[in-house]
Amino acid sequence: MPRQAIKRGRRPELMWGLGLDEMLKQQIEDGVGPGFHIRNFPTDSLPLGKDLSQDEKPSAAWIPWSVWSDFPEYRKEEYRDQDSTQRILIQSGEDKPLEMDQVLAEGFLTVVRTPLTRPKIQDVMFRAKEVTSMYSDIYRMTEEILLERELLARKTDQLMFLNKVLASATESLDASTILANAKDTLSLVLPIKMLHAAFWNHQQESEVADVEIFLNGKMPPESESIWVENIMASANFMGSGPVNGFNILHTDSARRPEYALMPEDGKLVTMPLTAGHETFGCLALLCEPGYRLGKDQVETFRSAVNHIGLALRNALTFKEVKRRADHDGLTRVFNRHSFEERLVYEIKRRRRYNHDLSLLMVDLDHFKQVNDTYGHMAGDMVLQKIGEILTTTFRTTDLAARYGGEEFVVLLPHTTEEAAWKLAERVRSVIADCNFHFDNQDFTITASIGVASVEGGALTTDDDLIIKADKALYQAKNNGRNMVVVSGQKPINRNRSAMQ
Ligand code: GH3
Ligand code: MG
Ligand code: MG
Repeated sequence: MPRQAIKRGRRPELMWGLGLDEMLKQQIEDGVGPGFHIRNFPTDSLPLGKDLSQDEKPSAAWIPWSVWSDFPEYRKEEYRDQDSTQRILIQSGEDKPLEMDQVLAEGFLTVVRTPLTRPKIQDVMFRAKEVTSMYSDIYRMTEEILLERELLARKTDQLMFLNKVLASATESLDASTILANAKDTLSLVLPIKMLHAAFWNHQQESEVADVEIFLNGKMPPESESIWVENIMASANFMGSGPVNGFNILHTDSARRPEYALMPEDGKLVTMPLTAGHETFGCLALLCEPGYRLGKDQVETFRSAVNHIGLALRNALTFKEVKRRADHDGLTRVFNRHSFEERLVYEIKRRRRYNHDLSLLMVDLDHFKQVNDTYGHMAGDMVLQKIGEILTTTFRTTDLAARYGGEEFVVLLPHTTEEAAWKLAERVRSVIADCNFHFDNQDFTITASIGVASVEGGALTTDDDLIIKADKALYQAKNNGRNMVVVSGQKPINRNRSAMQ
């Protein structure tokens, strides 16, 4: 559309004359000076139709009224469409002078009347230049507006994307759901084949971290260990510090394990997850190789990951708060409230499926003496250790809880009386064999355990089970402690040679 500013360089600027006679052409050439080249078309071969859209467009066209007034309207229109060319109308002395608004309506910049003197031509050229530079200003502004509009459209897309990310990340307080959603939303910008994550947590300001790894779907063990190694290396690189242990969880468990992809099956991008100034985890994204993001897309992607990071941080905090509410602060096993809830649930389930259910009630023997002899802190340390023993001895489907003071319960679904007794014996002996060390003093402790079970189709209530286990415990205490008594059976002191 706009032409370049009039250059007086090596190449003269092109102007057209349409049907100029020699004299007019000469006068114009003299008037405009050496920087211009006039190409004059005789009236019988005027540029028409497609000739007008040839590559080099004239900056101005000089057109006598006699030529122009012979044009049919559609031809005039063709010329008017050439908006990079300033048209200058030449009227001879004999022509009836046109009003200026008529000149403009015909699509001319201006009109000059013969004789074409040098000052007249210079004046016209000056105006043509002004108009042209005005045009190019307008053109530049229009271009800028279009660009702004495009940028705005892109920003809107980015905002919509971020909005989607945010909405899906805050939909749930469960980390694995957030990760599954994140994979879907992030894939709108970058095709992601797999999304794994790791979170690290430093217990009570300790140097070593516990790491939780979320793998995207179940996979064969050998693939899993490659991913775990890879993710742990990233975690270490991003500041997890030395690791105490890790726990693997799976998101998107519907994914078929045999289709596990490996790190080399795409481009692996790892990104830190931060909240405040703390990096608490990382994402490992396996992306389509050869896919590149634009600079602003990278920015958007980063802020999307930041949003997801915050949502994950919330989810982890929520989980921790919930864990604290469900667990006993000192011993880290479940608290009595969680136990009671779970007991009701297990009794209901047992009624439906008729499976066995057992309960152990564990009470430390002469615990008061531990406090009295070694102090309350020593007592606390013992309770902590008992909590540890209980968590490591039983399956994750079992539930060990602190029932109160130095009394613990263990709920064992799908466990017969016989198996429960064996487990109780094992715990009893582990406790008895444990050496405690406090303030340069060594001591041991024992526990008495009552076992109660409901087997097969027997009817029971949650209270029944507790009462029975409690009675058995009472018997164990009465019969000399450091022993297991099964409800409804005679106490047999399997630990010692004689019954007490
Ligand atoms: P028994 O063999 O008959 O069970 O004797 P015991 O001394 O263990 O039983 P008793 O019920 O007389 O005492 C329980 C003690 O457990 C008393 C209490 O101070 C102590 N205890 C309860 N909770 C805690 C705790 O959180 N920390 C410490 N250090 N001691 C606790
Ligand atoms: Mg006791
Ligand atoms: Mg007690």
